[in-house]
Amino acid sequence: MKIHEFQAKELFHKYGVPIPRGKAAFSVEEARRIGAELGTFPVVVKAQIHAGGRGKGGGVKLAGNAAEVDQYASGILGMTLVTRQTGPEGKIVKKLLIEEGLPIEKELYLSVLPDRGTAKIVFMASEAGGMDIEEVAANTPERIIKVYIDPLVGMKSFHANELAYGLNLTGDPVKQFTAMAAKLYKLCTDYDCSLVEINPLVLTKDGRVIALDAKINFDDNALYRHKDILEYRDLDEEDPFEVEASRYELNYIKMPGGNIGNMVNGAGLAMATMDLIAQAGAAPANFLDVGGGASAEQVENGFRIILADPAVKGVLINIFGGILRCDRLANGVVEAAKKVGIKVPVVIRMEGTNVEEGRRILNESGLNLITAKDVSDAAQKIAAIAKG
Ligand code: ADP
Ligand code: MG
Repeated sequence: MKIHEFQAKELFHKYGVPIPRGKAAFSVEEARRIGAELGTFPVVVKAQIHAGGRGKGGGVKLAGNAAEVDQYASGILGMTLVTRQTGPEGKIVKKLLIEEGLPIEKELYLSVLPDRGTAKIVFMASEAGGMDIEEVAANTPERIIKVYIDPLVGMKSFHANELAYGLNLTGDPVKQFTAMAAKLYKLCTDYDCSLVEINPLVLTKDGRVIALDAKINFDDNALYRHKDILEYRDLDEEDPFEVEASRYELNYIKMPGGNIGNMVNGAGLAMATMDLIAQAGAAPANFLDVGGGASAEQVENGFRIILADPAVKGVLINIFGGILRCDRLANGVVEAAKKVGIKVPVVIRMEGTNVEEGRRILNESGLNLITAKDVSDAAQKIAAIAKG
């Protein structure tokens, strides 16, 4: 789960990680009032969306006076912000963060996250802050320092010192940084974060170390033990089809630019089916794993969600009937098709338990469903649909 910068900064504050003074605003009037309350200029007006790269996209503005706060707040609120992370369609800005502008001496990068490869917590830091870290990693990987921490041992002062000296910090900022790193480690592990990222972490001209940006992602599978975090969920920022799918516990991810919907049981088979669609010269419109033990109702909801997507020009259903029997699947598909109607070709390949009964249900449904003998037959039929 993703949260907004202002929410991440709330958590930083709770853990004693220094942040600029500021507050979220939901209207231009509120932005004006918060700007005045800060009492100093410049004031920074920042778009709050679940994506980074806002600065380059025009979503972060430095206001030198009250009139500019007004001007930028009304310009950014309601705008469609396009950044490298939003995709070309962008995101509509509905919230702002109004905060004090700080005198920046140097922009650094700092993140902490679990590393699957080593099963450790890794800190990544770089003096090349404020930029796209992916670019730094690709072009100048030597500018990124990594410090691995065994979670059973925990974070020690030598870990933090290694980072501080690697960032070429000297004097009091070393102390500020090491204290902050320990707090971030605690935050990351307390809340089962999949990422805590500060880009930029700034050293100010008056020698303070402050988190200027804040990004936190949470492991969805651990959210059940962090009820307080669930309150941060912002459905405005999520894909409406994904929100709908999450209501039925379906593993659905929308794939922008795709045209062939697919419904599969098991994540591995779903990935293989997406490859199959791509090989057939089409592009998958979604990932959907209905799960091994899916009910007819879940199949029905999954199929309904796929068919509701206007980008979908054809559907491939690829099911191995194990725990989910083929007759159950067939019933779910037929029920969904009757309810929502099918306006695009649907190819079904299924194999496994009760497959004969499943085929009979599909054939006798009176619906225009294309059954495939096997996977390669399904691929050819999908290719034909993709070619129109
Ligand atoms: P994004 O990563 O989405 O572009 P950031 O929060 O990193 O958004 O802001 C982009 C840039 O704007 C920062 O690198 C920094 O130079 C400037 N900036 C952001 N907040 C402040 C602030 N409070 N004071 C001064 N400059 C800021
Ligand atoms: Mg940033």
